[in-house]
Amino acid sequence: MKSKGKVFICGAGPGDPELLTVKATRLLQTCDIILHDRLVSREILELASQTSKKIYVGRASGDPKGTQKKTNNLMLNFANEGKKILRLKGGDPFIFGRGGEEAEFLASHHVEYEIIPGITSFAGAAGYASIPLTHRRYSSSLAVVTGHVDANKNDGVVNWRQLARSVDTIVVLMGLERINIIAKKLIQGGLDTNTEVAVVENATTSKQRIFISKLGEVATKMKKHSVQPPSVIIIGKVVKVRMQIKDLSLN
Ligand code: SAH
Repeated sequence: MKSKGKVFICGAGPGDPELLTVKATRLLQTCDIILHDRLVSREILELASQTSKKIYVGRASGDPKGTQKKTNNLMLNFANEGKKILRLKGGDPFIFGRGGEEAEFLASHHVEYEIIPGITSFAGAAGYASIPLTHRRYSSSLAVVTGHVDANKNDGVVNWRQLARSVDTIVVLMGLERINIIAKKLIQGGLDTNTEVAVVENATTSKQRIFISKLGEVATKMKKHSVQPPSVIIIGKVVKVRMQIKDLSLN
């Protein structure tokens, strides 16, 4: 039997409320329940209807508040009560956002759901930093990888050395804490120490900071400037294009 309620697994974009989709904005105003992550800003939640119930289900690393199981149960229970639930996630729900796992859970419990894509953080970061991720002269391929380590795999989840030889532009999410080792492995894999790197902290928000560096020195530079998550790391020749076009852009 299908539940009476429905869950909208929805991307909130990278931070700037103006990067919300029209659909996400409408759902913010019409859903009964909003289950939101850490990366969804206060400004975005302020667009929600006054009567909706807003529940934080974020999960910073080491944050004991909110586990995936708890979130799943909240979705299930509210759906069984016939509620319209907005499961709001930073960026796009299917890019390192566990959106797939939540959809699997809902499907296995016969809860109706819909996926609403959002502007992913790396697209927001690249756009607001004037860095084209592909470019006819510099890059015809792009890989988006996690820098996070899976505790069960001691060498991380990405084969960095192989990646270095396989694509022109590498985008790393959740990579700041391990930038030192990531840069080292990419250099071992064949990337030049002078390869351009951009790190965009708090992309698209009023706190956005952009750092341009080289692979060989990026870790030191990030430390020096106390760059914090959330940050997107963009590695490759395309970073150079920023220098050529940024003077005329607003960002
Ligand atoms: N689903 C999200 C990604 C979740 S993983 C998306 O599509 O963007 C969390 C990582 O996303 C962070 O560690 C960081 O690398 C990146 N991120 C999310 N929001 C960001 C922002 N506003 N600025 C920079 N990086 C961001």
